[in-house]
Amino acid sequence: MVRKILAMGAHPDDMELEAGGTLAKFSENGDEVYMLILTSGGYTDSAGSMHKDSTLHDEAELASKILGVKELIILDYKTTRLSVNSGVVSEVDDLIDRIKPDILISHHPFDSHQDHKTAAEVMAAAARQGRVKNVLSGSPLPYRPNIFAFKPQFFVDITSTIDKKADCIRAYNSQYTKFGGEKLIERVKAMAKFYGWAMGYEYAECFEVIRIDDSLMGFFK
Ligand SMILES: [Zn+2]
Repeated sequence: MVRKILAMGAHPDDMELEAGGTLAKFSENGDEVYMLILTSGGYTDSAGSMHKDSTLHDEAELASKILGVKELIILDYKTTRLSVNSGVVSEVDDLIDRIKPDILISHHPFDSHQDHKTAAEVMAAAARQGRVKNVLSGSPLPYRPNIFAFKPQFFVDITSTIDKKADCIRAYNSQYTKFGGEKLIERVKAMAKFYGWAMGYEYAECFEVIRIDDSLMGFFK
């Protein structure tokens, strides 16, 4: 059975950081991975550097190729100003009606970034009434204070795809450079090692379950 996975990040590179190894594993398995980015991506960082929409879009394309994403969809909400309203929910509703994902992955509701929190709320709204059966929140990065609200519940062994995860993070050259280059990769790998240790895997990603049905566990096959 081919499963359809919709990963919804507030910004470009979010889902690569939180779920890149898992998404690569799904696509290698023959499942269909769709990447949705809610904001246009461009922003001015605290050091005053401009990160243009077009740069982020090119980087998102490259990262999607590495992950084997079937379709990349970028909406044009403004970075830092994403809010839950009928506009964004109905846009995501339309995509869910078209794609019919079995699994929806987005941010954690207690993430410290306002856009990430909003994305988590949009995920809950769009998955209402059984429209998506399996709903997962990715792990916030450790520099966010709210990481301690995250409950690691659903683990994926990403030992075979950790290199793809690293490569798709490098594909966002503007962000990779801003966040310390190989130091960022080292930290992402350390986090995957830490979660892997919990399960006896070399590297893992983990998710908090918002809800799942038996299909995700492979029961009754
Ligand atoms: Zn983000």
